Order: sequence, then structure tokens, then C-alpha cells
Amino acid sequence: MAVKIPYRRELDFSYGKIEQIAPLVRRVVAENPSPFTHFGTGTYILGTGNVAVIDPGPADSDHIDALLQGLKNETISHVLVTHTHMDHSPGCALLKEHSDAKTHAYGPHGAGKLEQGVPVEEGGDMDFVPDQLVRHGDVIEGGDWSVECVYTPGHTSIHMCYALRETKSLFTGDHVMAWSTSIISPPDGDMTAYLSSLDLLLKRDDAVYWPTHGPSVIDPKAHVQAFIDHRKERSDQILKCVGEGVELITEMVPKMYVDTPEFMYPAAARSVLAAMEYLVTTGQVVAEGGVKLNSRYRPG
Ligand SMILES: [Zn+2]
Repeated sequence: MAVKIPYRRELDFSYGKIEQIAPLVRRVVAENPSPFTHFGTGTYILGTGNVAVIDPGPADSDHIDALLQGLKNETISHVLVTHTHMDHSPGCALLKEHSDAKTHAYGPHGAGKLEQGVPVEEGGDMDFVPDQLVRHGDVIEGGDWSVECVYTPGHTSIHMCYALRETKSLFTGDHVMAWSTSIISPPDGDMTAYLSSLDLLLKRDDAVYWPTHGPSVIDPKAHVQAFIDHRKERSDQILKCVGEGVELITEMVPKMYVDTPEFMYPAAARSVLAAMEYLVTTGQVVAEGGVKLNSRYRPG
């Protein structure tokens, strides 16, 4: 039986308008809708007076203007970045033209993989260099808010979630979203790390998640568990394909993603590749010539 993920997709918002969505939390959505960003990038504002901004979003001057205009009587004291995809961090450079706030992140794009000796040279905002590096467990304090850094590699190697301690809210970036699964695309994306980062969230007691895209996750643990079960199901599908002698990822994708439109197949193939890396790492599958898109795979 297929795993049912309790998706939520509706979002009540207007582009360019800062809205109070919870105590100490405001949001403005950038107008960059796509199959990967849902309605667009939600930039969060934490606190009042001296505020933190999470994920300034794409290099969109209208979006940054809306943010600055709405906060003209307040001060941005911190900019927190979940990760360096083009819909999350490039807005930092525009914001810096008008604000002295320091940017905080785990590192530049690919930094988490570089620590393991794996260079990642594309797929992100290569211009972004955080002013301040943050690590798991770090606490950042502002006026009426404080944030704990929760390192969650997987979607990317530097992915960081931020927990607003006053309201037990976790800002999950692209790690856990209500409307969609996360894309895990190697080399920067890493399924083994992603699954550990999901387990990590199961051990926490956050009351709600605020992802960068789409609505909140209102039942965090059930949602995370469904994602874990979903990945397990995908692994089982791959093992079944491999067991039946289907050796190529391009041949597995149409069998595994029967309800997915064909234009999404390249993304699906990268997702299968990510799962394959996990299955090869754990000895369940053997790859001929390394874990690559066009390699042949056999039972381990
Ligand atoms: Zn992303």
C-alpha cells in the first residue's frame, strides 16, 4: 500500500505584502512560483523592533523592496539562510545594499560536502559567503526572539533549520515542506544525510514547522514519519526493479513514477540516483562503475 503523506497545499497570502502569521512571526512571499517553489519563496521575519529575516529569497528587487518598506520603522539585526539554492540566498546581496545585518549560514554552497572531500561546483548561489558561520546547537539571540540552529543536511550539504524557541516553531527551509517532498540531488544532495536529518526532527518537540515554500506543517512528527516511510517505499521499489533485472535508472523511473508527468522525469532520475547512493552505501545494491545516472545496477 502506498504511503499517504498528509500534504497541505493551500496558502492564504498576497505577493509583496508582509503578514503576521503567528506570534513573533511575519512572512512576505516573493513572486517566483514554479513546480519547485510552489507559490514562491516565503521570507520570514522573526520578532519585533530588532528582527531576524530568514531566507531573503531570489535576487528580486521588488521582493526586497517590499521587505525593506514593510520594516522601515524597524531594524534587521540578523539574516539567517537555510541553504544556498537560487530561490533562497541571492536576495542577501540586495538586502546588504540597504542593511548592515550580518548573514548567518552553515557555509557557502557545497561546504558540507567539501568537508568530506567532495567538491560541489554548481546548482547553487556560488556568490553567497556568510558573514557568520553557524553550527548545530548554536543559539542566536535578538530583541524579543531567540533562535537555535538545527543542522539538517540532505537537501543540500549546508542545510540549516532555525527553531524559534519562544514559540517552539521550526523554520524548516526545504528540508520538510507541507506541500511536497524535498528534492535530493547528488552530489550536494545526500539521501543518507537526509534520512538522518529526518530522524533528528523526530527526536525534537517542535509544535509547528514553517517551510520556506507553502503552508505550515501542523502535525510535524506524523509528517516526518510519512516522509521516512515514503523514502523506504521508494527504496523497496528500486530493490524490486534491480531484483527483476532492470539495471538502468532511466528504465526504473517510468515504472516508479507512474503518476508523474514526463517533464519531471529528469528530477525523478536524480532522486532515484540519491536513493541508489544510499542503497549502495548500505550494501543492498552494487553499482557497475560507481553511482552515476547511467551506471548499471545489480542486487547487492
Ligand atoms: Zn532548495
